[in-house]
Amino acid sequence: MRIAVIGFGAAAIGLLEKLKNSNHEVHVFEKSNDIYSSSISGIRADGKLFVSTEMGGEIYIDPLLQRRFVEYYINFTGKREVETGNSFASEDYYRKFYEKGFLPISSQFFHIGTDQLKEVLFNIYEQFCKSANIHFHFSTEVTEVKEQPDGVIVNGTERFDMAVIAVGRSGHKLINRTISEYPQLIKNNTKVDLGIRYELPNHIVDEINREMYEFKVKYKSRTGYMVRTFCNNPSGFVVTENYGDFTTVNGHAKMREKSGNTNFAILASLVLTEPFNDPIGYGSYIAKLSNLLAGEGKVILQTYSHFKESKRTKNLYRVHPTLEPEKYILGDINLAFPRRIIESIIDFIENLNTVIPGVANNDNLVYAPEIKFYSNRLNNQISARLKFIGDCSGATRSIIYATAHGYLMAEAIESNNFNVDI
Ligand SMILES: Cc1cc2nc3c(=O)[nH]c(=O)nc-3n(C[C@H](O)[C@H](O)[C@H](O)COP(=O)(O)OP(=O)(O)OC[C@H]3O[C@@H](n4cnc5c(N)ncnc54)[C@H](O)[C@@H]3O)c2cc1C
Repeated sequence: MRIAVIGFGAAAIGLLEKLKNSNHEVHVFEKSNDIYSSSISGIRADGKLFVSTEMGGEIYIDPLLQRRFVEYYINFTGKREVETGNSFASEDYYRKFYEKGFLPISSQFFHIGTDQLKEVLFNIYEQFCKSANIHFHFSTEVTEVKEQPDGVIVNGTERFDMAVIAVGRSGHKLINRTISEYPQLIKNNTKVDLGIRYELPNHIVDEINREMYEFKVKYKSRTGYMVRTFCNNPSGFVVTENYGDFTTVNGHAKMREKSGNTNFAILASLVLTEPFNDPIGYGSYIAKLSNLLAGEGKVILQTYSHFKESKRTKNLYRVHPTLEPEKYILGDINLAFPRRIIESIIDFIENLNTVIPGVANNDNLVYAPEIKFYSNRLNNQISARLKFIGDCSGATRSIIYATAHGYLMAEAIESNNFNVDI
């Protein structure tokens, strides 16, 4: 078959790994100019690889397959230098959190670090270049994929037997266009996670960072919203993320350069019901409102006590932000966020403080907005010629899940069996 793969990110890597050296002629279209500028977001930004059946996506991925892809990525680092750990392997820790109403999430993780990632990606790309059946086309943004009775037409001109769309979240324009043309592909979408990035001195969370590096917990707050931690970065850095028409906050950690602070996200999950059908629109509005207050391209920074009391922060005290000063404004997040979300986050932090004293210190830092969008969940059983893998399919939210999803799709292609729900 002649197969078009749209996007070269984590999901495409899993697919190509299985299809390399097969009889299929595979053409990869990537909108970035080259492998160095490619926006493979997670692979670029932090590279924390998880093995867990409780997070990473909406589909079941066998932990053995997950582990295999962790090894795969680590093997492409020069020296196999990674930080590793197990979340909630210790019964004591599990109990401590459980007693206070938290739901601890178990996972095994491997942290490659932002600095080593470029090398990993380049090595993977070079390896695929050696396969005669794989052809890369950089600087090629795909804007249209049309299904025909006997194949698909990409960008109005090129014909393929099938197209596997692997454009991640940054490919939402292509996905929106495709689903407006083929609405039957949508399974559902009503969710958005909205919250803050929290930053505090390492010494407050040293013990838990040493124990598990990445601590993930969920908590049903008194507002009824489920609140969770996400992306803990010991000795890490807060950064902004540009979505084009708005800016959000994020965090990452490096293997070699370390800061004196830890940051993690605290997110409230909103699951809205009909007639609401635009969680991305809702999240984007709140992000834009925050940017409007902070100034274009900037996020709001506030101390925890002011966040609680809804007062504008004018000065900071002991905790120094790792985000560059030109990227934030001291302000009041309460002017941009709905009350129920603020209350959920405060309830979460106050409760966490009972397990880790110091977490609710007045001068800890709160940055906003941090938002996690969920893509529409797409149905891969509708069309034999149009398939969706990785985050753009709504089935995954992590490097390992996206890579494994691509791999499972390639297995289905190889065996010509699309009855499985992937
Ligand atoms: C800042 C950040 C940090 C993250 N950190 C982690 C982490 O530490 N660990 C983890 O497991 N996950 C992390 N994630 C999530 C992870 O990056 C994704 O789950 C994963 O990369 C999804 O893989 P994908 O192949 O679906 O999409 P991507 O990896 O995003 O790849 C999509 C590719 O498609 C290309 N593309 C988009 N549109 C088009 C188009 N129209 N035509 C051609 N090409 C197109 C893009 O340029 C991109 O290269 C992070 C995400 C972000 C945003």
